[in-house]
Amino acid sequence: MSAPLRWSRFTWRECPDVPNLPIYLDNHATTRVDPRVVEAMLPHFTMTYGNAASVSHRFGWEAAEAVDRSREQIARLIGAEVQEIILTSGGTESNNLAIKGGLPGLKSRGNHVVTAATEHKSVLDPLKRLAREGWELTVVPPAPDGLISVESIANSLTGRTVLVSIMAANNEVGTLNPIAAIGRLCRARGILFHVDAIQAVGKVPLDVNDDSIDLLSLSAHKIYGPKGVGALFVRRGDPPVRLVPLFDGGGHERGFRSGTVAVPLVVGLGEAAALASLERAEESARLLALRERLHAAIAGRVPAIRLNGHPTLRLPGNLNLSFADVDGEALMMAMRDVAVSSGSACTSANPEPSHVLRAMGVDEAMARASLRFGLGRFTTAEEIDFAADAVARAVMRLRGKNVSADAP
Ligand SMILES: *Cc1c(COP(=O)(O)O)cnc(C)c1O
Repeated sequence: MSAPLRWSRFTWRECPDVPNLPIYLDNHATTRVDPRVVEAMLPHFTMTYGNAASVSHRFGWEAAEAVDRSREQIARLIGAEVQEIILTSGGTESNNLAIKGGLPGLKSRGNHVVTAATEHKSVLDPLKRLAREGWELTVVPPAPDGLISVESIANSLTGRTVLVSIMAANNEVGTLNPIAAIGRLCRARGILFHVDAIQAVGKVPLDVNDDSIDLLSLSAHKIYGPKGVGALFVRRGDPPVRLVPLFDGGGHERGFRSGTVAVPLVVGLGEAAALASLERAEESARLLALRERLHAAIAGRVPAIRLNGHPTLRLPGNLNLSFADVDGEALMMAMRDVAVSSGSACTSANPEPSHVLRAMGVDEAMARASLRFGLGRFTTAEEIDFAADAVARAVMRLRGKNVSADAP
């Protein structure tokens, strides 16, 4: 087991509110805040608690300095300039600001938007609302492995296309899209390119210049930072991206996003970004090895499974499997000791099975009988072995097969 992380006077494992079971393998839903991030945030609640917009005293200056530092850390992670980072309340707001804020300024140039069927609801739903208001929307289907090809985007562009919104990494099946190639295509045609990079940031290499990205959404709580804070990268330059703000008010964030900046949360996002910059390469290699170990251990014991998503072009910490001849709801109920996300209906407010798996052509029963494993910074090899065993036992039991003799 890796050395315990120190957090104030508790060691990680001794922390009294951390049960060992269930094992947390749902890091695409959210991540545990890194103790180093918490430590960085704490002084900004009770000591440097000023309003970053207060220009007349030290409390304000210190808060503004902390926000500036964080903005630099966020910008560095994606290769942006500090002036290009707009702080938001999270990924959903960043996606909404990019789309609802970006399109009005483009109206004179066209009325057509391209996205993909595998996008997150915080991209699809704003676009569907705009489609009801007269914008023309093309929703590109994925390949069976979840990939959105450059060709499918190229074929959907028209002379009236003004915005393409494609995610860097899918939150369900982990598939990585060819963002740089799609970016080049959009840049050559003068089309604005928005990327929901909420799952990809800090996990795979990303650079807004190399990848020709105009708008990029990120969120702190997917990268071991706090919930309720995120950022939108908005390219400066010629021609500048003009956004219509979603909120009017004090004119914060260069007028793009009014509202008092949540200094402690922003500091958390900054620290999370700095840690991701430093540790991404090493962490990704470790998670990839653990992911392969989990996949091999399950595949070695359970026949008739399907890997959802691309086998290699995927997030290192993502494994998504469907299990034939298993009832999705029963499978989910059997996963008591392993916290994963299930393709089965009753896990969410939405009665439909995963729209991503359905778009990839996975049939309804297999979509329901799917499990998404999201490995993260705090996942250990012991946990992976335990999880593989728990999954194998559950599936074989549900299929009515004998579980191996070492069962308790
Ligand atoms: C989590 C997530 C979002 C939403 O981000 P929030 O910060 O939770 O609002 C959007 N897109 C993707 C791909 C995500 O994984």
